[in-house]
Amino acid sequence: MDPSRQSANPDLHKQWAQVQALLRAEVGELTFNTWLAPLQLVGIESDRVVFTVATRFLRDWVDAHHADRIRSLWRRFNPAIGGVTVLVQPVAQIGERPAQDAPPPPPAAAEEPAADSEIGAPLDPRCTFDNFVVGKPNELAFAAAKRVAELETPPFNPLFLYGGVGLGKTHLMHAIAWEIRRASPERKVVYLSAEKFMYQFIKALRFRDTMSFKELFRSADVLMVDDVQFIGGKESTQEEFFHTFNTLIDRGRQIVISADRSPAELAGLEERIRSRLGWGLVADIHPTTYELRLGILQAKAERLGGAEVPQAVLEFLARRITANVRELEGALNRVVAQSTLVGSQITLEMAHDVLADLLRAYERRVTIEEIQRRVAEHYQIKITDMQSARRARSVARPRQVAMYLAKQLTPRSLPEIGRKFGGRDHTTVMHAVRKIEELRATDPQLNDAVELLRRLLKG
Ligand code: ADP
Ligand code: MG
Repeated sequence: MDPSRQSANPDLHKQWAQVQALLRAEVGELTFNTWLAPLQLVGIESDRVVFTVATRFLRDWVDAHHADRIRSLWRRFNPAIGGVTVLVQPVAQIGERPAQDAPPPPPAAAEEPAADSEIGAPLDPRCTFDNFVVGKPNELAFAAAKRVAELETPPFNPLFLYGGVGLGKTHLMHAIAWEIRRASPERKVVYLSAEKFMYQFIKALRFRDTMSFKELFRSADVLMVDDVQFIGGKESTQEEFFHTFNTLIDRGRQIVISADRSPAELAGLEERIRSRLGWGLVADIHPTTYELRLGILQAKAERLGGAEVPQAVLEFLARRITANVRELEGALNRVVAQSTLVGSQITLEMAHDVLADLLRAYERRVTIEEIQRRVAEHYQIKITDMQSARRARSVARPRQVAMYLAKQLTPRSLPEIGRKFGGRDHTTVMHAVRKIEELRATDPQLNDAVELLRRLLKG
């Protein structure tokens, strides 16, 4: 070995510290910690700076993405530097075991590919296909989930489930996992949240163990990642997610993804990743209808057993608790718990009392219908023009105002809003929102009208 490749070179270490500071500022904390912090400076060999890392994966990554930059930054401090060499040296040989300040070692189960549920997250035993009540708003998602669970060859890849909170995305993913476990226990199903995926990935990096991380995921027959909206923005994890995703799809394994919005609306996600997510089947779970809510309540009330819930109470709940299924379940549980605890009958009046706070909150919630009605009144146009295809300025502008207010005042997503305005596309809604924002800054009269409507609606 060249004697100069000894690391006792204080200048070199000082230069590396300076380069590191610049790199950190350029790439951000997360990328730096993920990819660059693991580099161990070894020394200089002829004109090249030599580093070691613990895995081939890290080496390849640094070579492909950061080596050039390191070299050119380094030349600012030492123009004699001709390049960067990254070598793989397993942890033990560097003499640096996982440090004391590292997190506690991963649970043994996480290293054991056989224990599927340990890699991912535990499954809720109540979330099965049998317990899923099907109605218009979720029939496509339900049918798609069933197909995926029944067929060994992916019928569409990925299956992308999206919809607002509490509408059954997680339930369907768990149901897929349960069904596959029941029918073909030899198939490996991995279910986990996007957050957990990120956490596991970053942990693997800290332990210099990305190879087994990749193997864990890449050996899955079915990989389900829940709530991928949380992956947005975290670049290195996005990359890894995308690699895993591509590898699995290329190998004919099934991928199921969920998010609270469509692939097109996933902010902070690279374009190629976004578009790839939409290649399979995108199944949208719509907000619940009265019929579906009533059906769900009836099914749940039956399974709760014990307390008898009168039909009138179920209908009352289905009419009033409209936000999502989770809230609906919560309301039913509260009513039943009250009755069990104090041994009272369930009546309409009692349900009113028990849910007083929730019902009051509902009264203050603004609906899209209400916004349309107020805006139409204000501009003296017909309410049906909110849905119509008419493009005359006299109706198009109020319609845009209403879309804007719907975005501001309700938790509805752009596609949901679009649907309420005669089935318009989410990009139309986005355009309306931007347009009104622009006009509010330049057109005082319109700004006043929007402000007035906003106050009226917020009550
Ligand atoms: P999301 O993941 O979309 O936020 P979840 O799947 O967690 O929603 O659903 C919230 C709750 O509502 C869960 O307890 C789930 O079992 C229940 N739920 C949702 N949709 C249905 C349905 N169609 N039938 C029965 N239960 C449902
Ligand atoms: Mg969920």
